[in-house]
Amino acid sequence: MSTLAENLENLATHLERFRVSGIRNRIAGKDCAGSGGTFTTHSPVDKSVICDVARGDATDIDAAAKAAQEAFPAWRDMPALERKKILLKIADGIEARAEEIALCECWDTGQALRFMSKAAIRGAENFRFFADQVTSARDGQNLRSPTLMNITTRVPLGPVGVITPWNTPFMLSTWKIAPALAAGCTIVHKPAELSPLSARLLVEIAEDAGLPPGVWNMVNGFGEDAGKALCEHPDIRAIAFVGESRTGSLIQKQGADTLKRVHLELGGKNPVIVFEDADLDRALDAVIFMIYSINGERCTSSSRLLVQESIREDFEARLIERVNAIQVGHPLDPQTVIGPLIGEEHFAKVTSYFDIAKEDGATIAAGGAPIKSDGYFVPPTLFTDAKNDMRIAREEIFGPVLTSIAFKDEDEALRIANDTPYGLTGYLWTNDLTRALRFSDRLEAGMIWVNSENVRHLPTPFGGVKASGIGRDGGDWSFEFYMEQKHIGFAMGDHHIPRLGV
Ligand code: NAD
Repeated sequence: MSTLAENLENLATHLERFRVSGIRNRIAGKDCAGSGGTFTTHSPVDKSVICDVARGDATDIDAAAKAAQEAFPAWRDMPALERKKILLKIADGIEARAEEIALCECWDTGQALRFMSKAAIRGAENFRFFADQVTSARDGQNLRSPTLMNITTRVPLGPVGVITPWNTPFMLSTWKIAPALAAGCTIVHKPAELSPLSARLLVEIAEDAGLPPGVWNMVNGFGEDAGKALCEHPDIRAIAFVGESRTGSLIQKQGADTLKRVHLELGGKNPVIVFEDADLDRALDAVIFMIYSINGERCTSSSRLLVQESIREDFEARLIERVNAIQVGHPLDPQTVIGPLIGEEHFAKVTSYFDIAKEDGATIAAGGAPIKSDGYFVPPTLFTDAKNDMRIAREEIFGPVLTSIAFKDEDEALRIANDTPYGLTGYLWTNDLTRALRFSDRLEAGMIWVNSENVRHLPTPFGGVKASGIGRDGGDWSFEFYMEQKHIGFAMGDHHIPRLGV
């Protein structure tokens, strides 16, 4: 594994091009300035300027949507095997530039390299998985009746918009864009304004792999202008969105006039429920991993620990010892687990919960005070003696902050677990199989793991319920979103047609 000094040296080489040329929009295979001018992006590590970024607005979105519309028929009609070849080449291109992607992603987001070094591998996997689906995906069926051959076909929607957040931008962009392209859609991507670097690398890799101009367009900028214009554009058939729940509802409103199909992957306040009969060593590892990895800036983090009263004291004591040993530091240091939070606003939000916890009467058992530095560093934090009606238990903090709540029995655990506006994931720790099944059945969440951390398997459905989202990704579910069913009825003979008039 490279040292911090080596990583910094390599990073400097990769950043040079951004420093010189900034990030421009990419429309129909060409670099374009943003009609709204530029904005500056900063690193959360030391607040230094990274580069200027094109500030796209409705004019740029219109140009990108038109390019996507124009490129659509040829991309839709390209033989599946050729489309597959291009997607596989994109995966190869991602792997070939894995180090560059990981270093830029860390500098841009503050995420630790030990986690982001896997981002490119995951991104390449997303392209490979959906490349394989291009030729094997169900593209229709025959639902025949006595008189008609009723054929269904599944056709790509057309140009679609993809709007992504800042937390793990590379992985999430590939996760949305790979299936859209595999389905035969063209795209306009609006990356998060706070971490735009890896989106630029990705579109470059795709074009180098032979993706025709206009199939993948990228417009940078802010949600309220570029993002809103994308949702409102009449040529854009759907919006695949990952971000906050309140932005998700704005996406729906903005898309209403053009009857936009929307897929929303939103926030979470996910419970991890530890029963007294669980394998407590493994549970402890998973609890720590699922809230303190990726800076806790992950939608699937287990931010509410529900621990059975009979084991609470001992489990929390072990947790505190482990949490205090987690290393916070420079994201490019291979020893670092927690890097800086993304930026000033988010830092203010996360640290505000340290006071809120005290005001609400919880105990700060670990962390709980910002770290003085040039960047946005916070320590891994644990709140104990919490109740589920406290703000620290109800609101998505989106940082390395865990709230621990005690429960007496299964009924109480289920009531607390479901008493939240969100419903993305749930994690259960018990060795009682019947209880695990019963609890999973009643837990209000789109995804549940029993005796495991979150392990993503691409053919399975990914998504949430309640305020955590609408729609599913993964396997054929992705194609359900990016494609439309069409019915064609063929008469098989001279069946009776009602004759009206004379
Ligand atoms: P955000 O909602 O603030 O921004 C996400 C994207 O939406 C950005 O590109 C932003 O520019 C754009 N946007 C903002 N306002 C818009 C508008 N009016 N119209 C169109 N686009 C608009 O989210 P964030 O702060 O970047 O990301 C953190 C959130 O993302 C957390 O809530 C997290 O849980 C969620 N998230 C969910 C998943 C999931 O799979 N469910 C995965 C990762 C992150």
